[in-house]
Amino acid sequence: MHDFIIIGGGILGMSTAMQLQQAYPDRRMLLLEKERGPAQHQTGHNSGVIHAGVYYTPGSLKARFCLAGNRATVAFCEAHGIPFDTCGKLLVATNDLEMQRMKALWERTEANGLEREWLGPEALAEREPNITGVGGIFVPSSGIVDYAEVTRAMAAEFERLGGEIRYGVEVTGLEERRREVVVTGRQGEFSGCYLVTCSGLMADRVIRLLGRDPGFTICPFRGEYYRLPETHNRIVNHLIYPIPDPSMPFLGVHLTRMIDGSVTVGPNAVLAFKREGYRRRDVSLTDLAQMVTDPGILRVLGRNLRPGLVEMKNSLHRRGYLELVRKYCPSLTLEDLEPWPAGVRAQAVSRDGRLVDDFLFVNTRRTVNVGNAPSPAATSALPIGAHIVEQVKALVEG
Ligand SMILES: Cc1cc2nc3c(=O)[nH]c(=O)nc-3n(C[C@H](O)[C@H](O)[C@H](O)COP(=O)(O)OP(=O)(O)OC[C@H]3O[C@@H](n4cnc5c(N)ncnc54)[C@H](O)[C@@H]3O)c2cc1C
Repeated sequence: MHDFIIIGGGILGMSTAMQLQQAYPDRRMLLLEKERGPAQHQTGHNSGVIHAGVYYTPGSLKARFCLAGNRATVAFCEAHGIPFDTCGKLLVATNDLEMQRMKALWERTEANGLEREWLGPEALAEREPNITGVGGIFVPSSGIVDYAEVTRAMAAEFERLGGEIRYGVEVTGLEERRREVVVTGRQGEFSGCYLVTCSGLMADRVIRLLGRDPGFTICPFRGEYYRLPETHNRIVNHLIYPIPDPSMPFLGVHLTRMIDGSVTVGPNAVLAFKREGYRRRDVSLTDLAQMVTDPGILRVLGRNLRPGLVEMKNSLHRRGYLELVRKYCPSLTLEDLEPWPAGVRAQAVSRDGRLVDDFLFVNTRRTVNVGNAPSPAATSALPIGAHIVEQVKALVEG
């Protein structure tokens, strides 16, 4: 019998496990992950950006946790010798409409308490000679890191403190009883007083295993990237982001300096036909059937048919994709787009057809479950873990 069982070896599971073990040093803890190692899904397939907190609704969990997570991630990397670079980010407006939206973002960064600088076209050109735009916002606290490395360090810390990790265990059954939660995997049964689940793209299914209706379904959106040739490693000095369309949940194709020195372009946002499927040809009939019968997802798709089809077209035709980035970096050519692995985002969609915007947790008497944790959840992993520990404490003491 374990005191606490955690499901999911992504950054949220590992952050929670590490902080739970710190809070309860004498308790027996077990983390179960279905893959052969940590960070095999969203955590290991993302842009690696330590977000500053530009976009999020003031007062939301995203806004709070991202701001705190930005500082906490940097402190964690410093303490564990993990390379990171606070290279700063530039949001670039390329036309009048984007300039209007940029003004709204400027207000939001104020409300979110961020340090930032307004740049006119000359100042923009001075900072970034290869970028063109009518203006920009410079945010110095954005940075880059390899989140898989951060997750491995959290796993090592959890084990150092006495926690146990079992890889290759897929949880297929959960039963919440009066005094325990029974977790069934293909390899047998485990029992814990309390359970935390951080199961990413499978979040809704894992909550359903508890016999609960989560009230949402996870919709997978593939984010495809390209990498620029090595000769372009110095093409930008900062992270370069377009001004996002506020009606869309994703940030738009950006130029991202990676911690290994390379520069990626991406990600777009294409409806994926398989959760945890990284190639265009990956299709799961189960996943697909669930999507096309889910009223919430159907509503979202119906409302966003046009932009969704444009994303699909640009996914199939690199030229369309290239134009998205040439808007602000006109010197790039088709030959500059080299293949790079995609990621798949887990986005919760409510029954009434809303993309759930904020982080979302679903609690029962003995369990805390992460329901919605899209970007910036990697940046926010330490505060999210601390938040979960507080919720677990409330269950233990309640
Ligand atoms: C393309 C893309 C770009 C992004 N860019 C950024 C960024 O730049 N900055 C940022 O802050 N965030 C970014 N994000 C978001 C961030 O990566 C995720 O929010 C974060 O990694 C979520 O972590 P997680 O632990 O919840 O999920 P995951 O990393 O997906 O981990 C969930 C784990 O649960 C395991 N699991 C699921 N079901 C079971 C089961 N039944 N039994 C056992 N194990 C199970 C899975 O195998 C998986 O390892 C991006 C995401 C994507 C996809």
